[in-house]
Amino acid sequence: MHAKTTHRTAAFVLRVLDYGESDRIVTFYTEDFGKLKGIAKGAKRSRRRFANALEPFSCLEILFSRRGRDGLALIEDSTPICHYASLRADLERTLIASYLIDLTDQFTLEGKRQADIYRLLAGFLDLVAQGPALESLWRFFELRLLKLTGYEPVLDRCLACRSLLDPDQSYQFVPREGGLKCGRCGIATYDALPISIGTIRTLLLGRDLDLAKLPRLVVSPQTARESQAVLTAFIRHHLGRDLKSMQVVSEIRKLCI
Ligand SMILES: [Zn+2]
Repeated sequence: MHAKTTHRTAAFVLRVLDYGESDRIVTFYTEDFGKLKGIAKGAKRSRRRFANALEPFSCLEILFSRRGRDGLALIEDSTPICHYASLRADLERTLIASYLIDLTDQFTLEGKRQADIYRLLAGFLDLVAQGPALESLWRFFELRLLKLTGYEPVLDRCLACRSLLDPDQSYQFVPREGGLKCGRCGIATYDALPISIGTIRTLLLGRDLDLAKLPRLVVSPQTARESQAVLTAFIRHHLGRDLKSMQVVSEIRKLCI
């Protein structure tokens, strides 16, 4: 039997589930322990210990205990760090933030510490909270998260002949195969998507550019369209379905048109 140990760490709330009369089961992405699931006993009643902090994409410091490295943690206390009021006050920003945390939840496993994923989430939530709700931020977050979780699509060369990106060549993106195929190698398959050299270059730039400079990166309507099609298909291929938060976005946008 492992002894119970207590830890303190900063964490983003990914998901909250009511449990029983008064408890909540909360999934966090923590700075020091990766994804972590814990039970907040009496969270529905205790405003003193949990205030309104246990809401998706809130950032807080949590105090938790658990036996061993795995298993459900007991969330003993929490202190709000940032509630992201500006994200909650604006529909577009709420949609982006919900998607970022949903995607993080889907592509990460409990018990694997990756502080760079915590920093990625923190950096993008700050960008969305402080600047315009740019569509391109969705794509650059997707790419960076895919890279950190080991699912990065190949965008700098042809998957088949391995030749590096050539501005005179045409390309298609094959989600099932995980990247680009050049015009010499690619036989159009049912799931191959067209992608222009401009889109490929923008995605590569947006993947690596300093975060503070991202909102200034100009994305053409064609690139926005192509990169959305390509990355959505790629993510769907890995998850085997569409994300719920993405379906919500589609429904809302249909209503707003
Ligand atoms: Zn090729």
